[in-house]
Amino acid sequence: MPKRGMLIVLSGPSGVGKGTVRKEIFSREDNTFHYSVSMTTRKKRPGEVDGKDYFFVSKEEFEKEIENGGMLEYAKYVDNYYGTPLKYVNEMLDQGKDVFLEIEVKGAMQVREKVPDGLFIFLTPPDLMELRQRIINRGTDDLATIDKRMEKAVGEIEMMQNYDYAVVNDEVPKAAEKIQTIIRAERWRVKRF
Ligand code: 5GP
Repeated sequence: MPKRGMLIVLSGPSGVGKGTVRKEIFSREDNTFHYSVSMTTRKKRPGEVDGKDYFFVSKEEFEKEIENGGMLEYAKYVDNYYGTPLKYVNEMLDQGKDVFLEIEVKGAMQVREKVPDGLFIFLTPPDLMELRQRIINRGTDDLATIDKRMEKAVGEIEMMQNYDYAVVNDEVPKAAEKIQTIIRAERWRVKRF
């Protein structure tokens, strides 16, 4: 039996550009992992292809999949369901192939619970990393005095701690390159935990 493949999860705060970076990675010829097409109840946007961008389904169909235990993870995002069908992921991993998910943060944490040895990459906006450094430099006491506007950012920084790597999305090709480098390095890892 081949060695089980690696599950790669790219996630990060809403609006950081996960989809754009993922598309950049998959537009390159030198990647050897497989994209898991998600299922969603949201309406198809112009130019999107069913089965390539998403599997577009009704709310009833999605809920049936959940009931049947067919989803690795799922989340509601802006009134729509999004989720990762379990079957494709398992089949690929069993064949020793690496699988790539691009999902929002709630779903990523569900995957972390189920697949602790996966590779979890957090994509962050550049200002979030700067903010994090400033907070670290100031010490923890100041966390309490951070104003409302910064609360969201602090929440996102806390989220980042649950990931193996954080990649700044300053420029899309650079972010894509960094992610590919991480994945290549992980393949040669000896010690996991
Ligand atoms: P969009 O509607 O713009 O294509 O995607 C909205 C959000 O849903 C993005 O943050 C995207 O990463 C996330 N997303 C896409 N597929 C999945 C999935 O299978 N599971 C989860 N949890 N989030 C997903």
